[in-house]
Amino acid sequence: MWPQKIKEDALVACGRRCCVCHMFGGRNIELHHIVMESKGGGSTFDNCVPLCFNCHAEAGHYNSEHPKGTKYSSAELRKHRDRWFQVVRELEFLEGRWEESENKQIEEVYEDQVVTLKGFVWREAFPGPPNYDSFETDRIETYWMLVISKPICLFSNSFETEETIKIEDIKKLQLCVDSEFYCSNRQIVRTNVELTGKLFMSISGHHHGDANFDIRGLHA
Ligand SMILES: [Zn+2]
Repeated sequence: MWPQKIKEDALVACGRRCCVCHMFGGRNIELHHIVMESKGGGSTFDNCVPLCFNCHAEAGHYNSEHPKGTKYSSAELRKHRDRWFQVVRELEFLEGRWEESENKQIEEVYEDQVVTLKGFVWREAFPGPPNYDSFETDRIETYWMLVISKPICLFSNSFETEETIKIEDIKKLQLCVDSEFYCSNRQIVRTNVELTGKLFMSISGHHHGDANFDIRGLHA
């Protein structure tokens, strides 16, 4: 049994999302002993990883007499846990900043304008084809997202009506990068960066942010 305080701390640290697949679990989340109790693992915060039912079953059920698939090692689970706790901390910090920026001047940008924005980059998973609906039945697509500390407002020209559309309260941008940028800048995931590029509206099922950010450059 997990002591109440450890349980609470772990559930808050993960935001009730699974540390491996990052799916929001709500009540469907369980605490897993990274080193099994039978192997001497304690019910401590350091030995605890919150997992969804699926990942918990995967992490727990590996029969070395009938090896199938790849076992989740304790070191790997710990790494997943530490990375995920860091993402949750950063995102909560930014949520706090959004509250501070209420009633302050909102920066307005236009679709053709080149802008530089600061924020935290993380890799988020979404249900992909065929239905873009469920982590269980659809393929999973992952994208780099930039969460910015000061919400902005975007003016976009509609292709159909040529009217100008105002999109307010943009906080989460989906990054559009070419393969060269992607390959040479993987280290930006889970860090705070400054990126330059142009914003454009989310228009398809592959777009998950409040807007898209077509990246032209990275400031160290
Ligand atoms: Zn999971």
